[in-house]
Amino acid sequence: PPTITDNTNELLSKRLKVASKALSISFDKPVHMVSAAFQYMHDDLGNTYLDAYNNIPHVGHCHPRVVQAGQQQMARLNTNTRYLSEVYNNYAEKLLSKFPAKLSKVFFVNSGSAASDLALRLAQTHSRKKGIVVMEHGYHGNTRQVIDISHYKYNRKGGQGKAEHILEATLPDTYKGQYTQNDGTAGKQYAADLIARIKASNLDIGTFISEPIVGCGGQVPLAKGYLKEVYTYMRANGGVCINDEVQTGFGRLGTYFWGFEMQEVVPDIVILGKPIANGHPMGAVVTTEEIAASFETGMEFFSSFGGNPVSCAIAHAVLDVLEEEQLPEHAQKLGTYLLNGFENLTKKYEWAGNARGQGLFLGLELVKDKTKKEPFTELAAFVKNKLKEQNILIGTDGPFDNTLKIKPPMCFTQINADELLQAIDEALSAWTIA
Ligand code: PMP
Repeated sequence: PPTITDNTNELLSKRLKVASKALSISFDKPVHMVSAAFQYMHDDLGNTYLDAYNNIPHVGHCHPRVVQAGQQQMARLNTNTRYLSEVYNNYAEKLLSKFPAKLSKVFFVNSGSAASDLALRLAQTHSRKKGIVVMEHGYHGNTRQVIDISHYKYNRKGGQGKAEHILEATLPDTYKGQYTQNDGTAGKQYAADLIARIKASNLDIGTFISEPIVGCGGQVPLAKGYLKEVYTYMRANGGVCINDEVQTGFGRLGTYFWGFEMQEVVPDIVILGKPIANGHPMGAVVTTEEIAASFETGMEFFSSFGGNPVSCAIAHAVLDVLEEEQLPEHAQKLGTYLLNGFENLTKKYEWAGNARGQGLFLGLELVKDKTKKEPFTELAAFVKNKLKEQNILIGTDGPFDNTLKIKPPMCFTQINADELLQAIDEALSAWTIA
């Protein structure tokens, strides 16, 4: 058993000494996690937490199949991609088999940010245009040029505002936005507005980038039919369409292995990260033969660690486990159950404004009243902290931090779901009583 020591203060002061305050720490009283298994995490005091928040350990924290794949390959060989490798070839082939045939080339890197950065280079090289359409509240990573396409960052505290080559698309949100008829009508209206703005701008637009469900925006699914309209316009004008699946990919959305399937489109470039290797640092960019060919300019593309055999072995094990344990099917069933539970909360509480999402990628937006939909940030923080007191981890997000964010490891069970729903229900009623 772990040794029980409450050395939080000591750890915290050392951390503050060695790390910049730009790195955030969760919760007023920080938690010192020491181990994890599947959907559970353990702290140094012997507490077990139910993780309803972390979508990176996709098939479960420290899944033994994934751990073993990494250990075995690490003991055998780890090197860069300038040597031939069966492990690389087999994984690349397996990953690409999960995509429509047109997406037939892959680049491996070490993070979602590096994947976004490379995706932009590919798009700009292929389209020969500098201008980029980005999504309101979107986030794609931490490099210089990727901050420029992350409205969630450049438009918030500490951000330097919109760069000259950027055009912002209004988030096609059918809950709070201007258009709400989510049968394809709102999608068309939002897309028409964006297209009119692209036409009116003098930016040389060649790239459109978005997530299919905007995570940092507060788990907001794009209005139905939106991407179809936007992609059609972009392509007719020599543009390239990038879809960021860092949060939504790999079966998390249940029926839709990739989020773009929800919108009935096939992107030109797809960005992958987080769940791809269950927490081992890896990212990937998947694209078409033509776009990959445009990038063959004579300049070598090299990443010291991208596509190394250890990463590929781990990522391959993730795909195997997803298939063997039928986790996408499970995410569909359990996600529907959880969403129903959240919808029931919206009927019970005036402050539970909107339940949304797909599979195990869900949001519950809290508002002060259902007509004005004014964000209820304090209540969201209250619920998150109340759950933490009961050893359940969830997040909050959105421009006003008023959406409860649920995206657990895919092995989350119905018993876990019931526990989570009950805890949120009790926290909402505790606020009522307070
Ligand atoms: N895209 C999206 C949608 C993300 O959520 C993130 C990370 N939160 C990234 C890209 C960047 O990934 P990373 O942190 O691995 O660089």
